[in-house]
Amino acid sequence: MSYSAWFESVAGGDRRFPLNEVIYRDPATGALLEVVHDLEALGRRSAAAWMRLFDERYGRTSWPYGSGVWSKHEWVQPHVQPENVVSLYEGNTNLFWAERYGRTIGLEDLWVKQCGTSHTGSFKDLGMTVLVSSVKQMISEGKPIRALACASTGDTSAALAAYGAAAGIPVVVLLPKGKISAAQLVQPLANGAIVCSLDTDFDGCMRVVQHLTEDPHIYLANSMNSLRVEGQKTISVEIVQQFDWEVPDWVLVPGGNLGNVSAIAKGFSMMKRLGIIESLPRLVCCQAERANPLYLAYQRARAADRELAEGDFTPIEAGDTLASAIRIGHPVSLPKAIRALVETRGVVEQASEDELADAVARADRTGMFNCPHTGVALACLEKLVRRGTIRKDERVVVVSTAHGLKFTEFKARYHERKLEGLECTYANLPLEMGREPAEVSAQIHRALDARGV
Ligand SMILES: *Cc1c(COP(=O)(O)O)cnc(C)c1O
Repeated sequence: MSYSAWFESVAGGDRRFPLNEVIYRDPATGALLEVVHDLEALGRRSAAAWMRLFDERYGRTSWPYGSGVWSKHEWVQPHVQPENVVSLYEGNTNLFWAERYGRTIGLEDLWVKQCGTSHTGSFKDLGMTVLVSSVKQMISEGKPIRALACASTGDTSAALAAYGAAAGIPVVVLLPKGKISAAQLVQPLANGAIVCSLDTDFDGCMRVVQHLTEDPHIYLANSMNSLRVEGQKTISVEIVQQFDWEVPDWVLVPGGNLGNVSAIAKGFSMMKRLGIIESLPRLVCCQAERANPLYLAYQRARAADRELAEGDFTPIEAGDTLASAIRIGHPVSLPKAIRALVETRGVVEQASEDELADAVARADRTGMFNCPHTGVALACLEKLVRRGTIRKDERVVVVSTAHGLKFTEFKARYHERKLEGLECTYANLPLEMGREPAEVSAQIHRALDARGV
């Protein structure tokens, strides 16, 4: 294949590092790296030809292009040979027209990209297929990699454990003790990973994994490793493809470590530079009020009436939030996220615990089954529509990041009204009944009457 990509420092400079090197930061400056593609080579194929190719591959069986990620192989990791791809046919997730929920908040054209309908139940699969495939490629070239490792708030570790197991590469996951859901803990255990439950929070696990992966035989799988961004960015291409190559006006995504907001911007930006789209959507990074360092930085910049910059940011200690996967006070991908927001005239919004929990419940009542992080995005959406930032005639996409089934404790406690300090306005409990058909029927009719139907 005549396409190529390499690592460069996000801080600029023109040193290039090969993608099959074990490297996460620019050795000279310590800045994060990012994958840069040879856009000139990609541009030799016309926009129309790329769209045709991606449409031909969409959801088909020919390996590995049936995967939503690997259908964009040339844009993702051109150097990975198909036989080294580790794919569970991730991506190609439903773009759900949230007609009923949209109408309740005054939007006609609201869509939810159901990225959590995936192998491990979260959108982390999209990045992990790329990272693990790249490592398999490295191992095939003789790199002595002993294991893959990550710190996680629960979804990254589930994805890494599954893809590592599929590839036959050992996996080590570092989790903050007691701060992830039962499903998230069971997943890496089932997949046979070495699961370390650490007496600290995510930011603490991140410090440990950075130490652990100073040993080049243990490969770092956190989103600090920008290989993952290459998979996550296919969300944007897929959204545009699902709209028959039209760009939505807004894309909302919950943000914690901020790898994904930058990945989504990168996907749109790449499509624009290759002539597939003419404009960029505006991005909204949605944070939980208890883990909102980017929101605070955004407010600081706004108060001073200037563009968001790294100088506006100070790390915080993230508080206890239902949106546990975005409980992060010191996001690793901050510089990339700031660039993404500036490029897309982005907005940062926040949601309280009450707001996110009720938004989940309201949306669930229209047929969805949302995770708390998607709830953060929905609650932020409601605020932006009320405020008039998002206009009623605009096309909006909310990126739903995980499946609600991974967060059943949260949902059960909501419906049992056991979430301390929260209203739980839409709680719905089972009705206790006997076994007598006539009595049960009568009770059901009373319940229907009570609902006014
Ligand atoms: C990882 C994750 C996010 C946030 O992505 P970041 O890149 O960390 O900002 C949001 N929701 C869920 C469910 C996640 O697992």
